[in-house]
Amino acid sequence: MYDDTIAAISTSAGEAGIGIVRLSGSEAVAILRRIFRTAARGQVPLESHRVYYGRAVDPSSGAPIDEVLALCMLAPHSYTREDVVEIHCHGGPVPLQQVLHATLRAGARLAMPGEFTLRAYLNGRIDLAQAESVADIIRSRTDRGLSLALKGLSGGLSRRIRELRGELVRLLAYLEATIDFSEDDVPEEDVEGPLVHCLDSVGQLLYTADQGIVFRQGVRVAIVGRPNVGKSSLLNALLRTDRAIVTEIAGTTRDTLEETANFAGVPVCLVDTAGIVEPSDLVERLGVERSRRAIEEADLCLMVVDRSIPLCEEDRSIAATVAGRAAIIVANKADLPPGVSREELESLVEGAPVVESSTVDGRGLEELQKAVLQAVFSGRVLQSDELLVSNPRHKVVLERAGSHLRDALSSLQAGLPADCSASDVRSAIDALGEITGETATEDLLESIFSHFCVGK
Ligand code: GDP
Repeated sequence: MYDDTIAAISTSAGEAGIGIVRLSGSEAVAILRRIFRTAARGQVPLESHRVYYGRAVDPSSGAPIDEVLALCMLAPHSYTREDVVEIHCHGGPVPLQQVLHATLRAGARLAMPGEFTLRAYLNGRIDLAQAESVADIIRSRTDRGLSLALKGLSGGLSRRIRELRGELVRLLAYLEATIDFSEDDVPEEDVEGPLVHCLDSVGQLLYTADQGIVFRQGVRVAIVGRPNVGKSSLLNALLRTDRAIVTEIAGTTRDTLEETANFAGVPVCLVDTAGIVEPSDLVERLGVERSRRAIEEADLCLMVVDRSIPLCEEDRSIAATVAGRAAIIVANKADLPPGVSREELESLVEGAPVVESSTVDGRGLEELQKAVLQAVFSGRVLQSDELLVSNPRHKVVLERAGSHLRDALSSLQAGLPADCSASDVRSAIDALGEITGETATEDLLESIFSHFCVGK
């Protein structure tokens, strides 16, 4: 437990109906008493989990700041397991700042980013993976991302990791016993079987990680093609809104435009690029450079061509830029009579599937979404309710744990002394503990919680 009490604005900046200043720590209720007045005579009891109506006031002058509701959640029944106080005031920057400053003058300290959640973790209410899920819930961009993060908060991954660690700790105890005691004192046990089983479990979790990370972070998809083939129209059709300016004059999308669409729960950031043509003026040249960069930074390219007319040199030179990258050929304007053969489209970029589409009658758009997901998930079947590892940090740690377990297994199979495999099993146990936090260092905690917002 800490001896200082922290305070922060917990709602987002800007104007809103209400905003919340939150306090956590042993002095939270005393600080509230210094800045909160109700109509009641004498001291109000401020019971836990009850809402009180009154005014926030300046602690020294008593001058009113705002009309507020105050709520105490006494330890241990709170987010941080400490005494927590919430002051709900009007949601403007000035009342929120003034209420916050009143709490600071009354004895609170300004909270660091993520400090409420850090306290929840350090006080044992949630583990590290669950704390990270809190940030993922706040940042989730699709319904699927939210449900994954919620599963993380409820401890799905943590349970699996703890089971695995438990199994490995048992194995380690046995291996150490065989080192310390003679064979006669330690009954023979199978180590290889359980070790293989643990390695499989790590492998299964890792198998889900690429999908999970895509659901959490999304993918970048660059829409490329020469002017007038329908890139902006395609972006709009995929977003089902009208953000990009669509015109009939060639080369009007001079800058890149980004929007995020939701493809079956995957946040897909669509980047509409300027047509890659030989630049005729400075503005266009900058646009072309941005397009090239957008292609380099993208996970996947949608190369759009006009299917109603023959392919031209420009199409082929763009195809050459895209070659070697994950790409889909979008043969657009399929509502018009074809001007190019299927074979030609299929040979434009090696290995790139062809989807015929029309932004006029909507054909092919669903197929295109499926093709994008297929490319992103490398053809893997999507499991809807399986536990997915969605945090890249967890993936790296699992890879490390897997490699220690493989080493342990090789030592065992090579008949090396038990302390060789014991040391690898111990490293795997430590690695797994970094996911749930049992073996997290201060640097690791710092790097995780510094990415949280203040007030969380
Ligand atoms: P961009 O320069 O590649 O971004 O192309 P735009 O999206 O600005 O579209 C260029 C022109 O093609 C506009 O007149 C669109 O209405 C038209 N267009 C776009 N998609 C289609 C389509 O699928 N079918 C037909 N017939 N016209 C389209």
